[in-house]
Order: sequence, then structure tokens, then C-alpha cells
Amino acid sequence: MCPKLNRTLAAAEALKLWRLYGFTSPKQLVIESLAMARGMLVMDGQLDSSAARLVRSGDIGIARISDRIREPGRRKFAIAHEIGHWELHKNQSQLLACTDEDMLARYGASRLEIEASIFACSLLMPEHLVVERAGGRRPTKTVIDDLCSYFGTTLTATALRFAETSNDYYVFVLSENNRIRWWRASDSFGEHELWIDNSTVLPRNSAAACFFRGEAVPTEPQPIDLVAWLNNLPGIDSDTVIEQAFPLPAYGQVISLLWLP
Ligand SMILES: [Zn+2]
Repeated sequence: MCPKLNRTLAAAEALKLWRLYGFTSPKQLVIESLAMARGMLVMDGQLDSSAARLVRSGDIGIARISDRIREPGRRKFAIAHEIGHWELHKNQSQLLACTDEDMLARYGASRLEIEASIFACSLLMPEHLVVERAGGRRPTKTVIDDLCSYFGTTLTATALRFAETSNDYYVFVLSENNRIRWWRASDSFGEHELWIDNSTVLPRNSAAACFFRGEAVPTEPQPIDLVAWLNNLPGIDSDTVIEQAFPLPAYGQVISLLWLP
């Protein structure tokens, strides 16, 4: 029988490396050096369809990262994801090819890919440091930019990590072609039956929808009808949500972070 997805273990294994090497800040974690210390050589090269590949032979291995990946934060995440496979899936696979989709895998991906991505998020952005750096601030553009530069991570990974580590009410939404591609809510929403169908058309008044109409996207957080974004939520005493949009023109995508006022 296949083992079940183990989110807690994936996150705990990443933190174990922080303790083992005595890291106390993100600057101390040099991802290629960490890979090397674990027995894995990182090489950049041409890969046809995958973003990264991992070949393991006993205690040594090679992670090949696609040279199509130009953004440093994305490359770093891909290496962290491969270290995740390296640490978590020793006995399950000696050869892995990971796609762009696998890199922030949350829905629909295989167990191994989800675990490697959870590991990567925890390795690059340990929860206690995200909470400390955010300092209770709302995720405005200034705050998320600050976290991206502090952790050396992409906007997508950072915004998602912000939402999932918060004790408050947050929803991360990634949109493409004026439709919701996928979303994730902080645990606080768990009891309120939040559900959004993927492929739902964006609310017309949303900041994200401005991007797909070719209009200027508001740079500041904007209030919008809660029902338009999140349907009816039993037990939530608010008519509005606040939306901060982050356009990603190079990928034709927009991230929205939503929170209650
Ligand atoms: Zn993978």
C-alpha cells in the first residue's frame, strides 16, 4: 500500500537541516552548498520538458536544473524541491523528473511532488522566521517584497507561504486567463466551509480582473464584496474582503491575497 501524504514530516525534515547546520537566518543557507553537504551535486543544463531532474546512486546524486529557469528565486526553489526528494524519498525513487507544475504542487500532483514542495517551502521559509519577519503586518506589496528579498524567494512562493503560516484569515489565489487556477486558505478558514471551484471566472470588480482586461492593477489593497470572491461563509461577520493583487506579467498570472478587514 502506498504511504499517505505526510505534510508534517516533510516540514519537520526541512527544519531538521536548519538545526543540523546551525542556520539562524536565510542568508546562511546557501542552497547549492547545502545540496552538496547532503551528497547531491547541482548542475544547470538543458532539459526538455522538466524543470529539474534528480538521479540518485546510493549516497550520491545529481540534481540537474533547467537552464530555462531564469529567476534566481525559482531556481533556488527548484533545488530546494530536489533536496526534498533527496531527503524524503530515498527508498521510493532513484530517478525523478519534476515539472514546473510540481514545483509549487498543492493539488492534483503526486504525493512525492507535494511533499517535496512542502519541504522546499519550509526549508527556504521556516514558519517561525516568516511570522517574525512579517511582524503582524498585512501582506501589502511592500511587506511581500520585503519577505521576498529577506528569504530570496519568488513572489508566488512567498505569498503562499505568508497565507499558510498565518493564524489569521487569508486566502491565496492564483489566476490565469481571468479564471482561478488554484487557491489555498489559511487554516482559520477550515471551520467556515470555504470552497472555491477552480476555473471560476474572477469577480469583475476584483483587482486581479483588471490585469486580464489590460487595465492598471491597483498597487494598494482594495476592499471588495466578500460574496463575490468567497461565496457565502457561515460564521464570518463581514461583507467585504481586502484584496492585494500581485501581477506576474511574465507568466500571464496574477496572485491575489485576500483577508478580512
Ligand atoms: Zn519533484
